[in-house]
Amino acid sequence: MKPFKFEQATTAVHASRTHLDAAPDARFISGGTDILAQIKEGTLRINTLVSLAGLPGASEVETTGDGLEIGALVTLSQIASDPSIAESHPALSQAAQSVATPQIRNAGTLGGNLCQRPRCWYFRDASFYCRKKGGDNCFAYSGENRYHAILGSGDCHIVHPSDVAVALLALDATVVVSGESGDKDIPISEFFVQPDVNVLAENVLEPGEFVSRVKIPNLPSGARSVYLKAKERQAYDFALSSVASSLVVIDGRITQARVVLGGVAPVPYSLPHVDSALTGQKIQDVDAQAIGKLAVQDAQPMSDNGYKVRLTASMVARAVSQLLAK
Ligand SMILES: Cc1cc2nc3c(=O)[nH]c(=O)nc-3n(C[C@H](O)[C@H](O)[C@H](O)COP(=O)(O)OP(=O)(O)OC[C@H]3O[C@@H](n4cnc5c(N)ncnc54)[C@H](O)[C@@H]3O)c2cc1C
Ligand code: SF4
Repeated sequence: MKPFKFEQATTAVHASRTHLDAAPDARFISGGTDILAQIKEGTLRINTLVSLAGLPGASEVETTGDGLEIGALVTLSQIASDPSIAESHPALSQAAQSVATPQIRNAGTLGGNLCQRPRCWYFRDASFYCRKKGGDNCFAYSGENRYHAILGSGDCHIVHPSDVAVALLALDATVVVSGESGDKDIPISEFFVQPDVNVLAENVLEPGEFVSRVKIPNLPSGARSVYLKAKERQAYDFALSSVASSLVVIDGRITQARVVLGGVAPVPYSLPHVDSALTGQKIQDVDAQAIGKLAVQDAQPMSDNGYKVRLTASMVARAVSQLLAK
C-alpha cells in the first residue's frame, strides 16, 4: 500500500481546501466501509485522505417546515431506526434498513452511501484496467455480467450500488454540496451521471466538493411510498433489482407518481413514461402487471442478466400493487 496523509477536517472550508490542495489524488472518508477496502485491495492509490467524521452539524436529522434535512454523516442505522422517518418517508427508512449488515449500517453514512464506488468485479480487481479506470475495454460486456445493467448503460455497464439513492430519487430529494465557496443545492435527479457523460465518475462532484446533507420535502397528504429489493443472498446483499415508488392518491385517483429502479442501471433510474401512465388513473383501473412490463420496455440485457428484465417487471408490479392496496 502506498503511504498517504490523513487529514482530519474541522470545518467545511478546511475539508474542501485540503482536498483541493491534494487533487486529484485526495479522497474524502466518512465511515470508511467502502474506501478503506478499495485502498487495501490496491484499486485506489491516493496521497491524502480527508476525514469528514468530525464536521460540526453533519450528524443530525432535523425536521424543518419544508421536510427533513439529514446530515451526510448520519449513519444508515440512524436513518433505518428513526421512527419519524419511517412514518413520514417509509421508502427511505426501508431502503436504509435493506443495506448490508447491522455492522456496516452502524458505520456507513448517508454521504458515503451516495458516493460509494461501483461493485463491478472487474472494477474492484486491480488487474483489470477497464474503461472506468481510463482503459479502452469494458470486460463485463463480453465477460461475467450477471449482476450488471440492463438499462441506461453505454460504455460501462455498472449498476449503481446505493439503495438509499433510489428511495431519495423517488422522494425528490435535494443534495447539498459544500465546497470552498459555500453550499449549493443539486436536485438528486441531476447528481448522478451516466457513463456516456463521464465514465470515470458516478456523480457531478468536482475536486474539493462533498455532500454535506440531503433535504427531503414533506410529502403531500394522500402520499404513500415503498422500497422493495430483490437480493441473491437474503442475509445481506446488493440489489439484483430494486424499486422505490411514491404515489399520491386523492379521492381514489393517482395525482402524482414516481417509480425509480435500482440495481439495473449505472444511476438510480427514473421512469417518466411509467409515472405518466400511472398519473390520473383511478386506482381500481391500474393494471400493475402492465405497469411492470412498461417499466422494462427499453431493457437491453447482456448474455447473463436477462433474468433481471422479468424480475424488475414483477418488482414494479408488486410495489405499485402494495401502494394501491394501502
Ligand atoms: C459487505 C458489504 C455489503 C454492502 N451492501 C450494501 C447494500 O446492500 N446496499 C448499499 O446501498 N450499500 C451496500 N454496501 C455499501 C455500504 O453501504 C457503503 O460502503 C457505505 O454506505 C459507505 O459509507 P461510508 O460512510 O463508510 O463511506 P466511505 O467508505 O467513507 O466512503 C465511500 C466513498 O464515498 C466518498 N465519500 C464519503 N463521504 C462523502 C461525502 N460526504 N461526500 C462526498 N464523498 C464522500 C469517499 O471518498 C468514498 O469514495 C455494502 C458494503 C459492504 C462492505
Ligand atoms: S462495467 Fe464498467 S466498471 Fe465494469 S468492466 Fe465494464 S467499464 Fe469497467
